[in-house]
Amino acid sequence: MLLSRFPRVSLAHLPTPLEYLPRLSKHLGGPDIHVKRDDCTGLGTGGNKTRKLEFLMADALKRKATVVITQGAVQSNHARQTAAAACKLGMKCELVFEKRVGDASEIYLNSGNVFLDHLFGAGIRDVRKGSDMNAEMEKVAAELREQGETPYIIPGGGSNPIGALGYVDCALELITQANRQDLVVDHVVHATGSAGTQAGLVVGLKAMSSNIPLTGIGVNAPKPDQEAKVYKLACETAEFLGAPGIVQREDVVANCDYVGPGYGVPTDAMNEAVLLLARLEGLLFDPVYSGKGLAGMIDLVGKGYFAGAKNVVFVHTGGSAGLFAYRDRLRTD
Ligand SMILES: *Cc1c(COP(=O)(O)O)cnc(C)c1O
Repeated sequence: MLLSRFPRVSLAHLPTPLEYLPRLSKHLGGPDIHVKRDDCTGLGTGGNKTRKLEFLMADALKRKATVVITQGAVQSNHARQTAAAACKLGMKCELVFEKRVGDASEIYLNSGNVFLDHLFGAGIRDVRKGSDMNAEMEKVAAELREQGETPYIIPGGGSNPIGALGYVDCALELITQANRQDLVVDHVVHATGSAGTQAGLVVGLKAMSSNIPLTGIGVNAPKPDQEAKVYKLACETAEFLGAPGIVQREDVVANCDYVGPGYGVPTDAMNEAVLLLARLEGLLFDPVYSGKGLAGMIDLVGKGYFAGAKNVVFVHTGGSAGLFAYRDRLRTD
C-alpha cells in the first residue's frame, strides 16, 4: 500500500502525537486510555479534515481549480479547514451551509467556526434544512463557471475515496507509533459522521493486518445507516488503493447510542465528558463530534465493552473551535 502514488499537498503537522492520559485512565478505572492528537493537525486550529484535504486539494490543484466548493452544517469543522486550506494554496472557497440545527442562537450562527470562515475570506451561502446539498453545490459551480472560474467540488466532510486516503495514512502512522512505543493497542475509538475517517482507518488497519478492532461512535445517523455508509466508502477506498476486498462487513462497527436528540444537539453526557477532559487532562473536545465520541467511550468503559483490553486509543478528531458557538448551551460548573 503505497500512498505516495497519489497526489498530495502538505497541510498538516504530522505525525500527530500519541499521548497517554494518566488522570483520565485512573478516574475511569478501566483500560489505559491514549489519545491520537488529530486535533493538532495545525491548519486553522486543526482537526481531522486536514488529513483528507492533503489529498483532496492536491486533486483540485491537478485539475487546475481556482475555487473549491464544499458543504456542511453551519458550524462545520470541515468547512473551516477547507477555507484555510484554500487560503494556503491561493484558491477561493465557497461554502454551502445547511441550517441543520433548529432554534439556532445568534452565537451559533456567527461565532466559532463561522467567525473563522469569515476570517479566511470564504463565501458563505445558507440553504434550508433538508436541501439536496450536492445539487446546491452544483448550482454554485455552474454560477462560478460562468464567471470564468474552474470550480472543484469537495463532498461534505471530505468523505470520498480520495479524502479517506488521509485516514488510511493515519492508521499507518498510528501503527508505526505504537510499534516504536512498544504499545499494544487493543481497541481504537473515534467519532464518526460523514464516514471518511472510519472508512480510511478500517482500510489502513486491515491493510497492516493489525487485528485491532475499531469502534466509531455515531453523531448523526442510526447504526444500520451509519455502518452501511462506512462500509460502502471503505470498500470503494480499498478498491481505489488497489486492494479490493480487504474490508469485510463485520470490520465496520458503529455505536449510535450517544447521538441524543440529534446532530449538533448537546447532550448531558457530552457536556460531562467535555468538562471531565478539560479538568483532568487540559484537553478540549467539541460538542458535536469528539465530545459525543468521548461520552460514548467513557460509558462503554463503564459497561465493560473493552474488557480484557489494556490499551484503548481514542482518535481526537478536533473541533474545539465549535465550543465557542455553544457557549450559551454548555454548562461549565
Ligand atoms: C468531521 C468530524 C468528525 C467525523 O469525521 P467523518 O470523517 O466525517 O466521519 C469527527 N470529529 C470532528 C471534530 C469532525 O469535525
